Amino acid sequence: MNANPLFGKPLAMSRRAAMRLLTLAGGFVLSGCTSLSRRTVAWDELQRSVAGKVVPREDAAYEAKRLAAVWNALKPARRPAAIVQVASVADVQACVRFAKQSGLKVAVRGGGHNWNGAPLREGGLLLDLSRLNEVSINAAARMASVQPVVTNRDLARQLAAHGLAFPVGHCPSVTLSGYLLGGGFGFNAGEWGVACFNVTGMEIVTASGELVQANERAHADLYWAARGAGSGFFGVVTRYQLKLFPLPTHIQSSTMIFPLDRAGGVAAWLAATVAKFPANVECTLLYASAPPELAAKIKQLCIVSAQAFAMSKADAEAALAPVAACPLSEPLTKDLNRPVTFDDLFNDLDRALPHGKRYAVDTFWLNAGPVAVLQQAARHYAKSPSPDSMMLALVMPPPADAPPMPDTAFSMVGPAYVGCYGVWSDAAQDAENLQWVRLLSTTFRGETMGHCLGETDLTADNERTARSFAKPNWERLQALRAKFDPDGVFHTWLSPRG
Ligand SMILES: Cc1cc2nc3c(=O)[nH]c(=O)nc-3n(C[C@H](O)[C@H](O)[C@H](O)COP(=O)(O)OP(=O)(O)OC[C@H]3O[C@@H](n4cnc5c(N)ncnc54)[C@H](O)[C@@H]3O)c2cc1C
Repeated sequence: MNANPLFGKPLAMSRRAAMRLLTLAGGFVLSGCTSLSRRTVAWDELQRSVAGKVVPREDAAYEAKRLAAVWNALKPARRPAAIVQVASVADVQACVRFAKQSGLKVAVRGGGHNWNGAPLREGGLLLDLSRLNEVSINAAARMASVQPVVTNRDLARQLAAHGLAFPVGHCPSVTLSGYLLGGGFGFNAGEWGVACFNVTGMEIVTASGELVQANERAHADLYWAARGAGSGFFGVVTRYQLKLFPLPTHIQSSTMIFPLDRAGGVAAWLAATVAKFPANVECTLLYASAPPELAAKIKQLCIVSAQAFAMSKADAEAALAPVAACPLSEPLTKDLNRPVTFDDLFNDLDRALPHGKRYAVDTFWLNAGPVAVLQQAARHYAKSPSPDSMMLALVMPPPADAPPMPDTAFSMVGPAYVGCYGVWSDAAQDAENLQWVRLLSTTFRGETMGHCLGETDLTADNERTARSFAKPNWERLQALRAKFDPDGVFHTWLSPRG
């Protein structure tokens, strides 16, 4: 016999029979959002107050929706109590109010590309924003107003039709939703800046369910926090206002490919050369497996990839001149000034990080001599257990005349950056690939300043989140979280505990 706290009287029945009775008694029975105690949540009441679909754990469609909420094929085991695919901003407000009244925590899903599957949290309500995807462009004012779940490729295409552009991220299927919230390193960042610096305002549903417009003049604290807080933001962004740029008419790409064992010389050339590139050049060092046409000769490569975003062919070629002038002998290939489109660049990224694979990702801002760091990274890549994995590195000496960064929650940058992308297919190889990615934090322990919040493994250690911000920004963010979400309606950042 067991005492059921929901009815206040003993029940002489099996757990299964008790669940059935509770379901029939109105609402559905679920395990609680914040504790393991059983509780009743009136999902039918929530369903009546929203136009979108409420899918509780018991629903036959639940598991497919849960798995589809995360792009990475390596899915977390965490199970929200219910998933709501909202149909409108009013639905978001109704869900937040319902969650607050019911003592449920709220998680949010934009495009589901967070590498750690952050939208999936244990218990509580998951708001799937995928139907919030309107775009409106004011070409004359060079402004756009976009709902969150618009992909990088869609926005870039729609803007290009007006001769305009925005620093969208490199992956075509990532949505603005979480990309902008975490800062956003996109195309032509040297000239256009970190993407969130070009967000002029946003519409936010707060922890009380109120809809507010946040910008420099109104709700300025929320506006400050939402530009960088990423997966720990304490509100739901339902619209971004964006500042746009003229579309570069000549995007050109120069690449040089070397065997991985030449990484030391390439790193030394890059470190000495990078300051010669103008701001409109994005130059990346990649470590990757050789494509089939080279694989007979060589297994792993070190690739210099530079793109200029310019307004004339001559300007693009001038910007990429340091690659043409590179004195390093005998690259496997050297391809200069190839005209490319944003679509070509998106397709390259899609090939490098395809959908359907298992991923573990980590990133490091490093305060150390770039040559040593890039060589360490190359040695780490050489030990990758999977040929699909890759690493990238940027050398970013602060230009002498650089203006100070805008004051936003996003605040972590450093002179060198390394990203490690573990990519594999077989679940049996999870452990060795995860271990390979995690080992890099030991390698870089002495040099690490911090991490890029949108692409770091927040489950790796308790310090990760704090170290993705400058210290004063992290402290202000904590204070604002306590002020704007005192009851903890929204989940906070992932941690090793989930
Ligand atoms: C293949 C690939 C390539 C990438 N390339 C880049 C890149 O070039 N540059 C870069 O900066 N990043 C890049 N990223 C990282 C990416 O920007 C982040 O993972 C980002 O969070 C993805 O956005 P999303 O909408 O899919 O987030 P989701 O996974 O849907 O959400 C992640 C978390 O963000 C919060 N969130 C999302 N939307 C909202 C909202 N509207 N309101 C409130 N909270 C919200 C929630 O807490 C949620 O748990 C890449 C990721 C992948 C998988």
